[in-house]
Amino acid sequence: MILDMFSLKGKVAIVTGSNTGLGQGISKAFVEAGAKVLGVSRSPSDDTLKMLGEENFSYITADLSSLDPIDTIINTAVEKYGRLDILVNNAGIIKREDSIDFSVENWDVVMNTNCRTLFFLSQAAAKQFMKQKSGGKIIAIASMLSYQGGIRVPSYTASKSAVKGITMTMANEWAKYGINVNAIAPGYMATNNTQALRSDADRSAAILERIPAGRWGTPDDLMGAAVFLASSASDYVNGFTLAVDGGWLAR
Ligand code: NAD
Repeated sequence: MILDMFSLKGKVAIVTGSNTGLGQGISKAFVEAGAKVLGVSRSPSDDTLKMLGEENFSYITADLSSLDPIDTIINTAVEKYGRLDILVNNAGIIKREDSIDFSVENWDVVMNTNCRTLFFLSQAAAKQFMKQKSGGKIIAIASMLSYQGGIRVPSYTASKSAVKGITMTMANEWAKYGINVNAIAPGYMATNNTQALRSDADRSAAILERIPAGRWGTPDDLMGAAVFLASSASDYVNGFTLAVDGGWLAR
């Protein structure tokens, strides 16, 4: 039956950036769809744990600006839940500074977190899926700046444009193993990531005026797309970046 294709019953997922915002919403969606979720975040995911319960959710803290935690993340999921079916690369940061003054430090930390670790964590998850001979699902969180230039965020734009590109590369190479690699490009969502924009009255009004849906998105708005791309309902969807943006890109 069609709704059964969206079920994540018996599936095990890793969601990075699970303590807040979009990662918390995706963790909630997966648990409601029947999955067990291992969260990964820089600061403890205690709020998410309280929300979802320890039967369905656990977390480790790790700094994803470095590749060092990758083996621990995969091994923890497999040791705790016996297998791995889904990886969501959601953790990400943004640094705002005029391009003319943009620092190497702000370039490197954003590229490392949003792009370098995302790729190598995906590679490690794909190796686990291949070892299990089970196939699997990898979902990246891209951005409107996978399509557009943005303002004062050159490393963020570079990283999110790269995410859209390598999502296609990984999809091309791993589809034959039953691994679906796709991305979600959220529009302007009300989370910590956009706090600075929302506090700037002029920028906030300009953004809101351009969103056909007439409102900022919320973590709940991503739940349907995340479950779709994590479930067998999307088994023939490969390398696509799905915008969940209230119509922003359609303008
Ligand atoms: P957020 O700032 O609330 O969440 C960011 C998450 O990333 C947090 O859970 C944080 O713990 C984690 N993180 C950041 N750096 C980390 C590190 N070094 N190690 C481990 N974890 C780290 O913002 P959000 O909006 O929920 O962002 C989630 C993702 O969505 C990001 O990739 C962001 O770029 C992307 N995104 C957000 C929007 C938006 O409008 N909010 C739009 C497009 C894309």
